[in-house]
Amino acid sequence: MCDSRIKEYETVIEKMSEGYFPRKLSGEMPVDDLGRLGMALLELSKKLEKKFDEMQKLSEVTTHINEGLFLDEILDQLYDSFRNIIPYERIGLAMLEEGESVLRAHWERSEAKQVYLKGGFKALMAGSSLQQILETGNPRIINNLKKYLLEHPCSASTKLIVKEGIRSSLTCPLVVQGKPIGFIFFSSFLTNAYRETHISIFKQIANQLASIIEKGKVYEELYQLNLKLQRANARLEDLATYDDLTGVCNRRIFNEMLHKEWFRAIRHSTVISLIMIDVDYFKNYNDSYGHVAGDFCLNKIAETITRIIKRPGDLIARYGGEEFVVLLPETEIRAAQSIAEQIRLGIENLGIEHRESLNADVVTISAGLTTMKPQNDNDPLQIISEADDALYKAKYGGRNRVVTLSGELISL
Ligand code: GH3
Ligand code: MG
Ligand code: MG
Repeated sequence: MCDSRIKEYETVIEKMSEGYFPRKLSGEMPVDDLGRLGMALLELSKKLEKKFDEMQKLSEVTTHINEGLFLDEILDQLYDSFRNIIPYERIGLAMLEEGESVLRAHWERSEAKQVYLKGGFKALMAGSSLQQILETGNPRIINNLKKYLLEHPCSASTKLIVKEGIRSSLTCPLVVQGKPIGFIFFSSFLTNAYRETHISIFKQIANQLASIIEKGKVYEELYQLNLKLQRANARLEDLATYDDLTGVCNRRIFNEMLHKEWFRAIRHSTVISLIMIDVDYFKNYNDSYGHVAGDFCLNKIAETITRIIKRPGDLIARYGGEEFVVLLPETEIRAAQSIAEQIRLGIENLGIEHRESLNADVVTISAGLTTMKPQNDNDPLQIISEADDALYKAKYGGRNRVVTLSGELISL
């Protein structure tokens, strides 16, 4: 009999070491020393099973919380998964700032009808009771907040959560590698909601939890920084691509595109048209109406050209002060003439008053137009100089007109 019980106890101990916890022993248990040892063994098995379950739950909780990347995700996971371990109807997180001298409410989730203690609420750490919690590193239970408020009538945060209906709180410090980062507040609508066991449960995962929260915070900061960087990059790219005043492409992009289109035209044996546009008597316009009005006028002109040039692949750019270019790949001269004339007419029809113009009473433009079939033995600068020559002819022919390189005047 004795031998068989000893053998069974050995098996029980072996099973317990493997994480299996027997709840009963086989056969009768006489109340002798060996029997009492058996009973004690069963008690130990029950306690270990409870502890094991608890650890398992805590490990599931931290694994689950760790799935969140951003701090808010992590905190939401925390709110959902702590349920079976610590009682609460509200969880708040506050982070230390400004060299640990200020505590700022960062996040809260609550079942209260109205939340009064919200993210952004700030409190000084110096002299506060939270300072003591940080110093000891031990969570604090207040199981009757109404009473606490009577004793500490100046505690603004207590006033606010009591107003939310909160009656008990468990305040847990968060420490990462010996450095305090903030607090988690578990709170309940019930008085006497918290026990020492809740403190010991929290302490078991306090370090891990603090690290996960810190990770979320760092990830969020990195993400925000990256967003800022992306925006700055996009802005730089914009600056490098578009003209600040008019929003059309700048000269650099025009030169790049002209080169690309030039060599594509050689490969495909197609033509390119180029319209060079210059505002008539614009110096007089500035002198008469001022530079701000001049800028506004340039904007309107760019807007009008953009409205007319719709085909993907065509390009509008600001070439200089009051000069614009329109690059029209695979466009024959007649089609380009028609487009240039639409632009000229569109701008004239804006009806922008110009009392100092020598040839009209509104703002007008002159345009020079050329169409080329690029060859290997000429280069892209040639098309620019041809369009420029045509523009010169348009100016000296009387302005407010579209002229081709051959001097052909379009529909005036
Ligand atoms: P033309 O008919 O021969 O072209 O005469 P114009 O007065 O337009 O020619 P000119 O080249 O002498 O003057 C161009 C003027 O364009 C000079 C400058 O004040 C103005 N200008 C150039 N860039 C800008 C700008 O960004 N904003 C404003 N408001 N004016 C500009
Ligand atoms: Mg000019
Ligand atoms: Mg001009």
